[in-house]
Amino acid sequence: MTDPAHDDSDDDEAPFRIAVIGSGPAGFYAAGHLLADSEGGGRRIDVDMFERLPTPWGLVRSGVAPDHPKIKSVTRIYERTAAHPRFRFFGNVTFGEHVSREDLLAHYHALVYATGSPSDRPLDIPGEHLPGSHAATEFVGWYNGHPDHTDLEIDLLSAERAVVIGNGNVALDVARMLVLAPSELAPTDTADHALDVLTRSHVREVVVVGRRGPAQAAFTNPELRELGELADADIVVDPDELDRALAVPDPDAAEDATSRRNVDILRSYASRAPAGRPKRIVLRFLLSPTALVPDPATGHLGAVELVRNRLVADPDGRLRAQATDERETISAGLVFRAIGYRGIPLPGVPFDERAATIPHDHGRVLDLSTGAPLPGEYVVGWIKRGPSGVIGTNKKDAQETVDAIFADFPSADDSALTPLSFAHTPDTPDPAAVETLLRARQPELVTYAGWESIDRHERALGEPSGRPRVKLTRLDELLRVAASDGPDLED
Ligand code: NAP
Repeated sequence: MTDPAHDDSDDDEAPFRIAVIGSGPAGFYAAGHLLADSEGGGRRIDVDMFERLPTPWGLVRSGVAPDHPKIKSVTRIYERTAAHPRFRFFGNVTFGEHVSREDLLAHYHALVYATGSPSDRPLDIPGEHLPGSHAATEFVGWYNGHPDHTDLEIDLLSAERAVVIGNGNVALDVARMLVLAPSELAPTDTADHALDVLTRSHVREVVVVGRRGPAQAAFTNPELRELGELADADIVVDPDELDRALAVPDPDAAEDATSRRNVDILRSYASRAPAGRPKRIVLRFLLSPTALVPDPATGHLGAVELVRNRLVADPDGRLRAQATDERETISAGLVFRAIGYRGIPLPGVPFDERAATIPHDHGRVLDLSTGAPLPGEYVVGWIKRGPSGVIGTNKKDAQETVDAIFADFPSADDSALTPLSFAHTPDTPDPAAVETLLRARQPELVTYAGWESIDRHERALGEPSGRPRVKLTRLDELLRVAASDGPDLED
């Protein structure tokens, strides 16, 4: 039987059935745009969303820093999409394990891949995987309660200095989380296991290392400004290093308001006298790590070897880092590699290994050998364009793909549903058949009602201490609570 929220009895017209794989911002914006089209006499669209975890929202739940609750409130928009009568959520379903690309093509007119960039880019230097060296992606997942990272061992008691490699917003999130005061952490939804470790941390200094200069940094103004407003940490920028890093003119950066303001903020930090707070964040520039070196006594990370860079212009004018022969070593027991996320291939779906994205033309997935669009397959978000932009960037990105889907579908007044050139006709466009298949393959299917049980439970746990929620971080706990009072799909 169908989800009670999904009643199609009032409408005899056969719907276009669309599967969205992934429930982060890109997937939800795509679903929202698709469903909005069926309002006001457009095509009738049904959207089923598939998610590997029992919980939706992707990086809004497991990536956005816990001390940024306003950013997380974007989920209210996604909740409206999820409440649409033609939307269903199938959580705890892994694409390629519980359902294949072929299964979904048999049931849907179109698939929209929205799986993001769940992995990290490698530094490719010796010692990268020493104990004490962590990908920022896993650290971020750990403090945000992602079930994949609950058991990660982050030793914040043995080291007083941590080095963060990278100059993007993730690097700044990581640096800030490492020095937040207990009073700043307490009201957040940081996972309890991380809250405990972060509160007892012995880390006193976090050095953030950029391979280029401040004008080329990828972080944005509010995130940089926040570093200067922390309760327990001073911000330190060496004025001489700043001047050296700004010595080579960068015409692109000069035209970019974010870059100009970043430079102004950094100049103000460089002229600040330390306020004597117990911790500090040091921002360094023009340095690339060349090796992570073990402490000979413990085998654990002991130091980071770096080379000083100069900025040189490429033929296209872009400034890139070029190594000099000057070297530097920073002793540190922890390194966080925050040099960008990376997409991973989906079984049976074309993948561009170099870009780590699904090849596409305006959102239409392309066959790698012929370069032609694959009928009925589309892509949105980071797995389409790479890991860049803010949450809202995915709204426009998803619109481009949804426009392509509609352009490939028969028009609203074509009741025969004749496929146009790229459109795909499923063998079994039957909502109940999908549920039956999923139930058989994954008995612990989590519906949207199951997620709502989790959501209520987590919020209730957070209430006594004034926190937005206390996250459940283990799959078995999440599944138990999801099953506790959500309606059974089969009843
Ligand atoms: P990012 O913005 O792409 O930054 C990656 C940084 O790593 C850049 O500074 C890059 O330097 C550096 N890098 C790359 N390869 C390197 C290497 N081999 N050695 C040293 N440095 C290297 O990536 P991100 O920080 O992971 O963020 C991903 C996206 O999420 C961004 O769009 C970001 O704005 C967004 N985000 C937003 C927020 C927020 O709004 N608060 C929070 C987190 C993330 P080069 O420039 O020299 O390549």
